[in-house]
Amino acid sequence: MNDLAFDVIGAQGPREYFEHLTSETLAHAYVFSGPRGVGKKTFARRLAQSLLCRADKPGVIGYDDTCASCALFRAGAMHPDFLEHEGALRIGERDAGVRLGDDLTARELIRRLSLESYSGGMRVLLLGDLEFSTHHAGNALLKFFEEPPRGVVLIMTTISPESLLPTIRSRTIEVRFPLLSQRDVAEILTRKGLDARECENGARLAHGSVTRALAAIESQEASVRTQVARWFFDVVAGGTPEEGWASRETLDAGLEVLKGLVRDWIVLRSAQGPPLFSDYAEELRKLPVLPATHMSAILDRVDEAQRLAQTNVSPTMVSEIVRMALALSLL
Ligand SMILES: [Zn+2]
Repeated sequence: MNDLAFDVIGAQGPREYFEHLTSETLAHAYVFSGPRGVGKKTFARRLAQSLLCRADKPGVIGYDDTCASCALFRAGAMHPDFLEHEGALRIGERDAGVRLGDDLTARELIRRLSLESYSGGMRVLLLGDLEFSTHHAGNALLKFFEEPPRGVVLIMTTISPESLLPTIRSRTIEVRFPLLSQRDVAEILTRKGLDARECENGARLAHGSVTRALAAIESQEASVRTQVARWFFDVVAGGTPEEGWASRETLDAGLEVLKGLVRDWIVLRSAQGPPLFSDYAEELRKLPVLPATHMSAILDRVDEAQRLAQTNVSPTMVSEIVRMALALSLL
């Protein structure tokens, strides 16, 4: 496919399918089906970029990333010949135009479909996670299939193709997207800027879906935060709670939470600014007032713990250092 790009991770089957098409064999409507978080919309956007790219190519996929059309995709600008919409399609609502995040009315959709291409080439419409709020909305879309406008490609993504109207489904080509491999999920998470540990951890819990990976990371972070806060208040109250929060996966995040709580403890005493953990402000205000030197000693120990967390020292040992620092300063 010469030197054109098609930057999609996974989706081998869909990729091979489109690699075999030409502009003559391209259909005017596709349904991309498959689980959430496997890259259906990303693939559709890259396909749209390919179809609108001005570079010469034998097939339909691939873009040069340098032409004026690609520049619009790269800048995240609105490409006049690419409309992306997500969510419910409504009809009978007052037509107030389409803003991002609004439901797209069927009438607006039909209007968009009948417009001329801006650049004289193709136009691509992506309806992501399509739901029809009424049967009428689905029927309105049927007009597209009855008289498909020239040069328009409609791509719909859905996790449940069986929920599409049979009359629509029968007039589209379904392209199935499989689950991603663990390695692909890790790669996508890395590109999203997550750190190495989060990527590895998220990919392990993803079961092939980036959406699931992100949810798992988020809920793990929320649960670490809660566990660490309980542990912290127990320790300050003179207890020796179990260090259940301190594992290889959670140590970094847990120490960050601890540091934040200790800072808030200082901040709330001296009114130096808003707390990071406002949900714990009430409890933090009830903690004893310690001399400034004790507080900075605790912070130093947390810093030391953070350094040790990067080594092979066991997570329980690292949390023990913080526990000791807290306990000693309260003596
Ligand atoms: Zn281009």
